[in-house]
Amino acid sequence: MVHPNYAQVAPRNSTGIKVVIVGAGFAGLACAIECVRKGHEVLVLEKFKALKSLGDIISFGSNVGRIFERWGLHDQIWPICNHLSELTIHNSKGEILTVQHFTEMRYGAHNYSGHRGALHEVLFNYTKSLGVEIRLGQDVTEYDEDEGRAWVVSNGERIDADVVVGADGVRSRARTLVLGYDDKPKSSGYAVYRAWFDAYEQGVDRDPLTDFMCKNGDAFYGWIGPDVHMLTSTARGGRFMSWVITHKDEADIEESWSFPGKMEDVLKVVEGYDPRCAAILAKAPSCVDWKIVYRDPLPTWISKGGRILLIGDAAHPFLPTSAQGASQAIEDGITLAVALQLAGKDNARLAIQAWEKIRYQRVRRAQLFGEQVRDMWHKAKPEAKGAEVEMPSPEWLLGHDSERHAYEVYEDAAREISEGGYRLPELPVM
Ligand SMILES: Cc1cc2nc3c(=O)[nH]c(=O)nc-3n(C[C@H](O)[C@H](O)[C@H](O)COP(=O)(O)OP(=O)(O)OC[C@H]3O[C@@H](n4cnc5c(N)ncnc54)[C@H](O)[C@@H]3O)c2cc1C
Repeated sequence: MVHPNYAQVAPRNSTGIKVVIVGAGFAGLACAIECVRKGHEVLVLEKFKALKSLGDIISFGSNVGRIFERWGLHDQIWPICNHLSELTIHNSKGEILTVQHFTEMRYGAHNYSGHRGALHEVLFNYTKSLGVEIRLGQDVTEYDEDEGRAWVVSNGERIDADVVVGADGVRSRARTLVLGYDDKPKSSGYAVYRAWFDAYEQGVDRDPLTDFMCKNGDAFYGWIGPDVHMLTSTARGGRFMSWVITHKDEADIEESWSFPGKMEDVLKVVEGYDPRCAAILAKAPSCVDWKIVYRDPLPTWISKGGRILLIGDAAHPFLPTSAQGASQAIEDGITLAVALQLAGKDNARLAIQAWEKIRYQRVRRAQLFGEQVRDMWHKAKPEAKGAEVEMPSPEWLLGHDSERHAYEVYEDAAREISEGGYRLPELPVM
């Protein structure tokens, strides 16, 4: 039986639980939205002084598409996303290995991909429209807690709450301050050059090697070569183009969403490839050189006192080939909001433990899925084709409804913890 509170909006501040969220990325905003919907009081603290349209292409699987649709955001988001009905994948010579067809809905919901800045703005404005206070220009420098509350220090001011959520991204300060971990990222051996630009301004529609990307609305193409994969798509009827090209890279620079890539280096990666690759890549007026780093999975996402927790990239960064970093970040917040509602204010710490128990293994499985997809493309045998090179869409990942699932499993998770004590979750064996 479906829980009576599933997909329902609770009366404002009805639980009396105050949640302070550090970071207004997708993790922080989604957590804020769902916490308000479940009757908690929310304050968001964000370092950026103003909302900026940053980044390039970002994807949300239908596991989160169904959440956006529940929030009534489809009509705002869908028009700014790319509308892709197929992905054509080639080998480096330009021979077609597969044409993978997509239906508009997968497992009952849309998959949304578009410009990160534009999609972030929709979520930001929706959060504000729910009456959530988002304080910009806040630098959170301290986290602490005692038996009855947790607090942060932001711009020198102490702010108390029942629960503090560190949603401060991949280079999380909360991870170090709350869990005591030194952030020691390791090179994954791969980097991604990435770009987003106006296809018409850059002449994509006027070059016979590239015009296929804009002629018939949005298009989606890929090339795989030895330890390289390149994906390119257009959005808004072929008007905007993005590309990502993942390649071997041992250089040791810090991960950054703004470190500029050099076009001569980008073009070296596709030397000897189908000439359309170089033609597409060279159209970008600039690109980002984004190093992919690994972090070992954290053994827990919860502070010792139990009232402070990490979500999103702060807790579990993802490889881009999973296309799930933002989606899993959002699922974290949805699950937390439900767990807190079901536990009530006096049991907030139990709710947080149950939340971790519900989330931990699913997140790890989704991370490993990203590694499998990368290896499928980067280690593909020369004769691989058809389903062997297609982007998988597993039901366990994309058919999931994190809100419904939290209502279904919370009581059992909380009972097991109450009866048996809390044990750190084990990593799944794959
Ligand atoms: C500028 C930027 C551009 C990105 N571009 C892309 C992209 O093009 N494609 C893609 O797939 N992914 C992109 N990402 C990453 C993607 O947004 C995340 O992987 C995913 O959405 C998970 O989001 P998150 O909220 O956990 O982390 P993030 O999106 O990184 O958000 C973390 C937020 O916390 C804030 N913050 C950090 N420290 C503090 C502090 N001490 N006090 C207060 N606030 C703090 C940050 O300013 C940021 O807004 C980008 C991230 C950033 C920050």
